[in-house]
Order: sequence, then structure tokens, then C-alpha cells
Amino acid sequence: MKIETKCLHAGYTPGNAQPRVVPIVQSTTYVYDSTEEVASVFDEPTKSLIYSRFANPTVMVVEAKIAELEGGVGAMCTSSGQAATLLSLLNLCSAGDSFVSTTAIYGGTVNLFSITLKRLGIECIYVDQDAGEAEIHAAFKANTKAVFGETLANPALKVLDIEKFARIAHAHRVPLIVDSTFATPVLCKPFEFGADIVVHSTSKYMDGHAVQVGGVIVDSGNFDWTSGDFPDFTEPDPSYHGIDYVGTYGKAAYIIKARMQLMRDFGVYPAAHSAFLLNLGLETLAVRMKQYCVNAQIVAEYLAACDCVEKIIYPGLPGDAGYALAQKYLKGASGVISFIVKGGREGAVRFMNALELASNEVHVADIRTCVLHPASETHRQLTEEQLAAAGIDPGMVRFSVGLEHVEDIIADLEIGFKAARG
Ligand code: PLP
Repeated sequence: MKIETKCLHAGYTPGNAQPRVVPIVQSTTYVYDSTEEVASVFDEPTKSLIYSRFANPTVMVVEAKIAELEGGVGAMCTSSGQAATLLSLLNLCSAGDSFVSTTAIYGGTVNLFSITLKRLGIECIYVDQDAGEAEIHAAFKANTKAVFGETLANPALKVLDIEKFARIAHAHRVPLIVDSTFATPVLCKPFEFGADIVVHSTSKYMDGHAVQVGGVIVDSGNFDWTSGDFPDFTEPDPSYHGIDYVGTYGKAAYIIKARMQLMRDFGVYPAAHSAFLLNLGLETLAVRMKQYCVNAQIVAEYLAACDCVEKIIYPGLPGDAGYALAQKYLKGASGVISFIVKGGREGAVRFMNALELASNEVHVADIRTCVLHPASETHRQLTEEQLAAAGIDPGMVRFSVGLEHVEDIIADLEIGFKAARG
């Protein structure tokens, strides 16, 4: 099936006289005929459903759909993108371990890595994604357990050289985790380029309508956990009757371990109703992504020619630093454009406050055009040095092109630039 068809049909095939639309199973628990049967599910939790902190039929439909869209062996939804990123790493790293991450990542992720994971004893070693391979290799330590990057970084819009990072990670016998929120599987399938684990904030394009906060972890099933560096995958788990994840679940070891250990203990599973809403968004994902790319390309070309814009970052423009990588990895440059308004921080704020159609909100990748000033909003917790490392100028605006008619979006930009000029 092509991706448009998978978006509509993967994960749920109703049988005779079954509901056409994925049912919302709003139940915390599942009933059994005997205590022995419940006991057997405790012994082998993948056997059937036991409690909606581990798995729920509505959420499972979405998990199966996203796994198929990415080409993975399994997926686990989480209650936010942050939870997906957190669990993707906690499934590999314990106190005393480290992981390597590129610097051009979402500001909330920087905070998670630099502050919260550090407090848990897990060190993030940052690397510039444009650095040469030798320099990136040198960042690894004996305790490094993973590599992390964003396919299309929020908001720096740098394109990750996935093959380069997969090659480096694999040389150190660790997996590459890619946050592919801005690309979605419609524009890039990171597993095809060697990534091992993909995470998404489903709150963004996957949902697309700004109606649910969610995340997902997808396992390619390709990473070899038996090198000896990941004993948690191959030695008996005392919290699950001595289960050996690789021995029992083979290629799905990572994603089943994440569910059995981490979802059980952290409980960041989405509600069935949220999964239902997410599924509605996923049904039109392929169609929407194409139109986001079309609209954003036109807006980017308008901005590139605008005298109020100091600099524009959009990897769909031939002059952009990420253009060559975008041509290689992406089937379209997605709908988010970052640009620097002339007049610095004040110019950007005047521009934003004047807009009438685009909403000033902490969101991105919505069906409606929305705009954000990273330096004073999402990334305000970063130091000047961290802002620079993440590629964020104080005058930078992140403009998320929606699906309104593109001429209306450009008319609104003109109102904003008139105000920015003063
Ligand atoms: N990853 C990226 C690239 C994001 O843009 C975001 C949020 O903006 C997140 C992760 C976190 O996702 P959530 O807001 O769903 O927790």
C-alpha cells in the first residue's frame, strides 16, 4: 500500500458488521473469567490486555498504524512527545551512562537533556551536527549508550545527515534515535537511512488539528542488542519473572521492554480518546503534508525576496545550507519556516503582534498558520550560548505555514512587516 492508503487503513480492518471508524475503548481495565487467567497475563503481559496503563485497544490501532507508516516492528504511544523522548533514552541509559546529541534540537529537549537527565545521573554530550566525523567520534565515552538528533530541527530547521550519524553510532555499537516530528513518515522514513529508533511529538503534524498532546516511539527492529553493551536486553529482568527481552521478543525487544518496564513504572500512556483524535489526524496526514510543503515553498520564496527579512531558513530553498541534505532525505521541506526579521528582537516582536490571521501561540505544525518567537517563548530558558548553539537568533521568528489559501497567508505577512518597519 502507498502511504496515503496506509494513513487511512493501517492498524484497523473492521470485520463483518464491525464499526467503520476505530472505536473508542474508554476502559481502564479488562475482565477475565478466572484468577488463573489474570495471573497468566501478569506472567506474559503481551498475551492479552490487562490494564490501560500498559495498552489499550484504541491506542494500539494508532501504534500499529504509525509502526507501519515508519516501517518499524512496533510502536508505543506516550502522553506527550517529551515522554517519548524521555522513555526512548531511559530504555537504554541508566545513571552513570551518557549519550551523544546534536545541539540543533527542540528547546524542551535541551532542557530535558541538560538539566533533568543530568539530575538522574545521565550525561548528554552535545555535538555540532555539521562537525566532521572524527570530531563526533571523539565525543563518545566508554559509557555512551545512544546518539540522538532531529530529522528537521525545531526551530533551526537544520537537516540531519542521518546516514552519517547512523554510521558513527553503529561504529560505537549504539543505536541512533531520531526525532522526526517535523518530517513525519510522509516526508522521511529515517529507518531507510539507518536510524534505529524514531520518536515523534504526535501533537504536531500527525495530529495536525491541535486537539491532543501525544508522542510515539517506533522501533525499527534492526539494532543488534547482543553485543554485550546492553545487558538489560539480554539478561533476565527481575521485575518480569526473569524475562530476557531479546530471547523472548527478538526484533521487538526494545519496544516491548519500553512498554513492560518503563510504561509500567512511569505510566505515561495516552487516553483512548486522545488516540482516537490522533487517528483522525493521521488519516489525512499524507494529503496535508503535501499541501504544507506547497504553501511553505511559496511563502519561503516570498520571504526570501522581502526587504524586511534579514535571513530565511527553509531547506526547500536552493540557497539554504540544508538544501542538499533535504534533497537527499526529505520528500518536501515541510511547513515550518524560520526567519530573522530586520530590527532584531524588537522588530520580531512588532511583526508578531501585528499579525491578524496567524496565531501567536506555543504550537507548530497545525492546520492553521501559527507563529512563535523562540528567544522569548519556547527557548527562553536557554542561555545566549545555548541559543547560538541551537541556531536561534533573538530576531528569529518561527512561522508554521498552515493550510489557509497561501495568498491570505502572504497578505497577513505584509501586515506584520508593515508594523516591523515602524
Ligand atoms: N520534539 C519536537 C521536535 C518538538 O517540536 C516538540 C514540541 O514542540 C517535542 C518533541 C515535545 O513534544 P510535546 O510537546 O508533544 O511534548
